[in-house]
Amino acid sequence: MKFSLTIATVLVASIATTALAATYTYGTDDAGPQHWGDLSPLWARCKTGLQQSPIDLGAEPSVTFVTQPIQHRYAVLTNATVGFNGHAVQVDWTQPADPSAASWIEVGGKRYTLVQFHFHSPSEHRVDNHFTDGEMHLVHRADDGTLAAIGLFLELKVANNPWFSWITALDNAVDQLPPGSDPTQTKLPLTSVDLPALATAAQNFSNRWTYTGSLTTPPCTESVAWSMVKEPISLGLEQFDALVDLEGFNSRYIQDRPGK
Ligand SMILES: [Zn+2]
Repeated sequence: MKFSLTIATVLVASIATTALAATYTYGTDDAGPQHWGDLSPLWARCKTGLQQSPIDLGAEPSVTFVTQPIQHRYAVLTNATVGFNGHAVQVDWTQPADPSAASWIEVGGKRYTLVQFHFHSPSEHRVDNHFTDGEMHLVHRADDGTLAAIGLFLELKVANNPWFSWITALDNAVDQLPPGSDPTQTKLPLTSVDLPALATAAQNFSNRWTYTGSLTTPPCTESVAWSMVKEPISLGLEQFDALVDLEGFNSRYIQDRPGK
């Protein structure tokens, strides 16, 4: 973990200046996943929630398997940036002034606008106790603030997937920072993120497990409409190495549901 010293330095600095801002890790330390619910009153759901994510999709009676595409309008993003936010590699962008030009999905008759996507390694969700090398989360928000997430399993292949070329570029950029630099300050502009091509590669999100869960990171907000797509997307070996080099292990453990 080449960033550990840098992150520790940043954490000490941020705790000193903003005493109320909690932070979390994926380790076995006091800020690890077992303790997220104790780190801030705003994160209590991580401990007390009854519909927490991720789950084993093959083992939960509350999960439904659906074989219809998700209604969506995904547009090519022309003003996005990719960076490492301290926990995950994430792509952000400014929403278009015209709401109809935004990317959206419709789930349960409700429209949700795509607001960001990010990565976990290895996958957080499992199927009959099997996990994959990574998981991509597309996070959508409705006008009333409720969330819908699409999860794509990432599967390691020797050949790189051109769609993810900027993961390697981000890792290279961070590697060139002077020692002691904060890796979260590096943002690469992305002038064309072809979301329609991603949706096509994911067969328009057909063949998916759906259930109501939560964000898998603090504040662990619930009532998230999850769609986990069955067919994985390929991620090249070099791209996977770059992803792990940037974010390390960032996968929350499987959550027990009521009645289990
Ligand atoms: Zn996520």
